[in-house]
Amino acid sequence: MVNGTNTELFLSGEASSSRPKRQRVLSMENDGGTASGNEVARSVTLFELDLLDCPICCNKLTTPIYQCVNGHIACSSCCIKVKHKCPYCSLSIGIYRSRIMEKILEAVFIKCPNAKHGCTEKIPYEKESESAHERECSFTLCYCPETNCNYTGVYKDLYRHYHANHKTDYSLFRCGQYNDAWVRIHTMKIFDFVVLQESEDGPLVVIQCFKESHGVCVTVNCIAPSTPGVGEFSYHLTYRKGSDIVSFESEEMNKIQEVSSYTPWDKYMLIPYCLLDEGPMLKMKICIRRLGEEV
Ligand SMILES: [Zn+2]
Ligand SMILES: [Zn+2]
Ligand SMILES: [Zn+2]
Ligand SMILES: [Zn+2]
Repeated sequence: MVNGTNTELFLSGEASSSRPKRQRVLSMENDGGTASGNEVARSVTLFELDLLDCPICCNKLTTPIYQCVNGHIACSSCCIKVKHKCPYCSLSIGIYRSRIMEKILEAVFIKCPNAKHGCTEKIPYEKESESAHERECSFTLCYCPETNCNYTGVYKDLYRHYHANHKTDYSLFRCGQYNDAWVRIHTMKIFDFVVLQESEDGPLVVIQCFKESHGVCVTVNCIAPSTPGVGEFSYHLTYRKGSDIVSFESEEMNKIQEVSSYTPWDKYMLIPYCLLDEGPMLKMKICIRRLGEEV
């Protein structure tokens, strides 16, 4: 134990079978964990992340880890590359495993990159690359779609922010009903959009219009993290001029975290210029349905 700090690491297993079992807590910055019975929960902060890299190739260590009799370690591919001769002391390496290093690796968890936004998820260090959590984390930041507003936040906060700051009489939509989706087209802009919000502080749906050489491309996206169960909708978009109708239906609305100025390459409705009304308003209708709800 290091005096003056709370840094203490107990490992249970074959090497310490004579000792009373203590809780194994090793984390980049563990918040304490749970303690039961005589087990003691401690925090460990690992300051040298390099210790978890192979000292030869500098890649992240993965099991199996080998060591020479002097205790120098190497990953399995480096053992082959150095022809089973330790580059530090020339002794043989590649037969004896470094079980303690393997156990430490197994016990290391890292915080989600969104921990600063409130995520408490911990990801096993060894399986970090296989973890879907980061992509699907509900604490991923989303950006306010309004021009000249720099607000970013977790989706629930963004929805509240939008309602409090940008709501208009025309910006609310109801699921399962045809709502007006009117976009004011400016001649000088590359794209224009309208934001609809499902009631009070519900999800934000952005309907974007891009002026292309052959017509106006219209896309519909929900501003939400990629978390399963959040902001999942289908929609039916229509535009009518006289007896001509252009419509687009999607079983699954795309989710975005930020409005993009890039022309979409899929999932768009094209309204040819010859069908556009006079005047600046592109008057469409949209019916949005929450996935999994009865039609
Ligand atoms: Zn290596
Ligand atoms: Zn060695
Ligand atoms: Zn997370
Ligand atoms: Zn805003």
